[in-house]
Amino acid sequence: MDNRAILWPYESGEVGDFYYARYAHPTVVEAEEKLGELDRGHAVLFPSGTGAATGLVLTLLRPGDTVALAAGAYFGTGKLFEALGQWGLRYLEFDQTGPPPEGVQLVWLEAPSNPFLTMPDLEVAVDYPAPVVVDSTVATPFGLRPLEHGADYALHSATKALGGHDDILLGVVVCRDAAAAEDLRRMRALTGISPPAEQAWLLLRSLRTLEVRVRRQAETAAIVAERLRTHPKVEVVRYPGLGSLISFDVADGAAARRVESSTRVVLNATSLGSVRSLIESRHKWEGDRCPEGLLRLSVGLEGPEELWADLAQALDLA
Ligand code: PLP
Repeated sequence: MDNRAILWPYESGEVGDFYYARYAHPTVVEAEEKLGELDRGHAVLFPSGTGAATGLVLTLLRPGDTVALAAGAYFGTGKLFEALGQWGLRYLEFDQTGPPPEGVQLVWLEAPSNPFLTMPDLEVAVDYPAPVVVDSTVATPFGLRPLEHGADYALHSATKALGGHDDILLGVVVCRDAAAAEDLRRMRALTGISPPAEQAWLLLRSLRTLEVRVRRQAETAAIVAERLRTHPKVEVVRYPGLGSLISFDVADGAAARRVESSTRVVLNATSLGSVRSLIESRHKWEGDRCPEGLLRLSVGLEGPEELWADLAQALDLA
């Protein structure tokens, strides 16, 4: 079988397991098997984290339905729900450290939220009488497996730690239920939000090193968060004790700008979960919901001392 092909010939006129890549591709299926093992469920791959969210909402909800979204969750998720408002989707935000509001058709949590880094009260949320999805992009399956806590769906932007090298854009929904995964696959094929096989192949490469990467990145993040806490230019540090994402506040927007543009080892770019440390001010994307002095730092695989020396010299300029 040629894994670069997007079609496979029938055998004696009979349709086989693979026939046209929008429906299924062997490399995508292999990546889904690995992702399913990691999160202990049935994985469905999408061309981005946002594509995964779109596929899930189109599959589960109808016009007039409401999603309860964790306040302070990834900015783009709220923007997606807002855009789907023209198709009759409604959403409201709630504090995920408490119970979800009554009367919604889908509960959307983020563990931990990006960039405010709150953790959901999963124990309370999973008793909710509607499906519960946990975007666990930042936690990774080594920090949290939402399905083992009773959630119905785990979602990742695989662009982040699962990919880890800033060279792929993918997303995944992992379902507790095999039938739910089939529903997602059907909607994926009908709407054409199918993942490219080359990206799935790169993801398979990345998954081989996922555990060592995320463990080391989390160890370094814990060291950096501790040092940030005692730095005189840093007012607030948010780090929930898992994953490699930290956010912290300096005095104001001008100070944040000086810090993000003065690091040399840490790249001033958007995204997270990469082997390369990344820093950015989030106010320029998120506006008033984000303090002007908030910096989001994604810790990579550099040595903790090298990383800290770079951050310390940049913070001195804050
Ligand atoms: N979920 C979280 C927590 C994210 O941080 C992001 C992107 O930053 C997404 C989802 C969307 O992922 P993608 O950029 O792969 O569409």
